[in-house]
Amino acid sequence: AFEAFQKKVQNKIKDLLQQMEEGLKTADPHDFSTYTGWTGISLLYLQLHRVSYDSSHLQRALDYVKRTLRNLNGRRITFLCGDAGPLAVAAVIHHHLKNQAESKECVAKLLQLQRSVISQDTEIPDELLYGRAGYLYALLYVNKEIGPDTVDDGTIAKVVTAILESGKNLSKEEKKTERCPLLYEWHKKQYVGAAHGLAGIYYMLLQPLAKVNPDILSELVRPSIDYVRHKRFRSGNYPSSLSNDTDRLVHWCHGAPGIVHMLIMAHKVFKDDKYLKDAVECGEVIWQRGLLRKGYGICHGTAGNAYTFLSLYKLTQEPKYLYRACKFAEWCLDYGTHGCRIPDRPYSLFEGMAGAIHFLSDLTHPEASCFPAFEL
Ligand SMILES: [Zn+2]
Repeated sequence: AFEAFQKKVQNKIKDLLQQMEEGLKTADPHDFSTYTGWTGISLLYLQLHRVSYDSSHLQRALDYVKRTLRNLNGRRITFLCGDAGPLAVAAVIHHHLKNQAESKECVAKLLQLQRSVISQDTEIPDELLYGRAGYLYALLYVNKEIGPDTVDDGTIAKVVTAILESGKNLSKEEKKTERCPLLYEWHKKQYVGAAHGLAGIYYMLLQPLAKVNPDILSELVRPSIDYVRHKRFRSGNYPSSLSNDTDRLVHWCHGAPGIVHMLIMAHKVFKDDKYLKDAVECGEVIWQRGLLRKGYGICHGTAGNAYTFLSLYKLTQEPKYLYRACKFAEWCLDYGTHGCRIPDRPYSLFEGMAGAIHFLSDLTHPEASCFPAFEL
């Protein structure tokens, strides 16, 4: 039955891709970001190449990322919203095409961004969308996709240190060194979720590729994760910020669908079943409340929430999670028929159709699924 469903998914992907290409004709030509712009579309084609080995997808990925490289502006540093995204994605595509010189040039430009990232007195935040964790992701991404020494350990260590120092400083200021040794804020708010908050930052620090010292993981990162765990609502969902106690949002950006990835990594790193238990409870609340009227995308839509089930499936091998991912995929197969709100960038990777296609394509090989611009 699963194979028949996969066939159906593959046909729908072709159909949605056509709609997306048509829709993109009126998209903002200057938005180069991964989040809402052309790098996100390029990343989708890179994914389609990964699952199908069809070289025309790789060529298309190159075409899309090329137009972004002309628009870089040096204003932001992250993979999702800044220059690091286009540079990292272009480096990987050129590497696949065996254009080694072009690939190296992109990596060199990516590394030039580190100066502003590691300085402590700039106004750079630490969260994933606009901050240091979003630059760290770009470095780890090229090391995973191109090879372990593409970015040297020294650079990664400097970025990690900047993130740790920033977190220790705020924790001290807020007198929370005992309870939450690494504390972060964005726009004066201590967000909890994956996009702007603590969970996204801790998740990056837990990545084996970040090579954070195990003592630091157990003395600073682990108690901070436990602090977030204790903020959980009775429902199993999590608040969007430490000062907000309304149990409303079940999105990847705010709520359990983002936190679950941190919990799964914590379980892998610390080998403690309490993290697995919490991750499983995230799975329950997302199953109950995760079909969203906000749309089908991955930031605050059904496809992003469905990645929870793929991640829990990869971890536990329980068919229940694959079933749940398929049920959420069925919702995405009926794209546009639920009266959902239409996002500002309806064809983009994080808000719109490209994200839903990315999720559907991951269902054709669930073992190797990967939340884009986040999971490694
Ligand atoms: Zn969102």
